[in-house]
Amino acid sequence: MPPARCFGAALALALLAGCKDSTAPPEEETTFAAPIVGTPMTDVFYGAHLDHDPGTGARDWACGIKAYDGHNGVDILLRNFRVQDEGVQVIAAADGTVIRTVNGFPDRNTTWDLGGGLANHVEISHPGGLVSYYGHMRLGSIEVAEGQSVRRGDVLGLVGSSGTSNWPHLHFEVRRDGAPVDPFAGECSSAESLWTNQLPYQNAFMVMDAGITDQPGTLAALLERPPTLGAIPLDAPSFRFWIQLANQQTATMRYEVRTPGGALHETVQQQVGATFSIRYLVLNVPVAGELTQAGTWEIRTYQNGQLIRTQPFTLIPAAEVSGAAVRAPSSLEVQVIDQAPPGAHEHP
Ligand SMILES: [Zn+2]
Repeated sequence: MPPARCFGAALALALLAGCKDSTAPPEEETTFAAPIVGTPMTDVFYGAHLDHDPGTGARDWACGIKAYDGHNGVDILLRNFRVQDEGVQVIAAADGTVIRTVNGFPDRNTTWDLGGGLANHVEISHPGGLVSYYGHMRLGSIEVAEGQSVRRGDVLGLVGSSGTSNWPHLHFEVRRDGAPVDPFAGECSSAESLWTNQLPYQNAFMVMDAGITDQPGTLAALLERPPTLGAIPLDAPSFRFWIQLANQQTATMRYEVRTPGGALHETVQQQVGATFSIRYLVLNVPVAGELTQAGTWEIRTYQNGQLIRTQPFTLIPAAEVSGAAVRAPSSLEVQVIDQAPPGAHEHP
């Protein structure tokens, strides 16, 4: 290497012009630690990564599906807004200088078409020329100011859902000379990781949560994590059973509604495609005129024939004062609610 030769010359001549640059210590390339507080797959869930597919498809750093078209960073999701309300800290992933903060955008968004991009966010410039972005933060939570020096691990603010976001999550992005780069090294990314300790690929299937609600089966209602109903009157029109899943692959789902005696009352099947992130599956269950027996029933959820959740629910006699029951739809209905529709762009 040239520096060795110059070093020898420098010893002899004390200083040799032209060797100064090559003998100076190279500027250390920044590497990043996790930009969020929490244990992966327990508290925080890695969803879509940077899209490495130059076309209209999507491909993550490990050549998997955990990306969507045009995505420039990695989304790290919370379970729901209840967790967001507890306050999950966004932290500086490396030492640097805060070069921009944006605050004041509304929070708790559950749709993608609001514009606003990263909305409430922090940008940090790091030695070596990399800039990191921390997007969709909680309204009013940003604790750092432009020009401020930060150390790795310093709290920047809290996870939110501001801007083009339909889920409480942190969008972490790294840019070099204005161009997004993927900090993850892998077969479909660069060979060298920008993480100090790169996290293994987070693609394990997981049942995260489930419940019974009389709320609508919408993303906005489910992300509030409605408390599970204790008892449902027999004249209720219907209720919703929901189940929250991480990293689900293409599957055949089957739901069984079983009577208090364990007999099969009704069953419905559903085909689902793979998701790059977290999703809800929702089963609408008609009650009035359909389920006529008081007691504790069950909904059994099977994925490719394997039981993944048994959810009890209790029906009680209709109150004397209630009027004529509304005739409910005569069959179970199922729907899928994903973190984002395919092809959605986070930064239009
Ligand atoms: Zn994102």
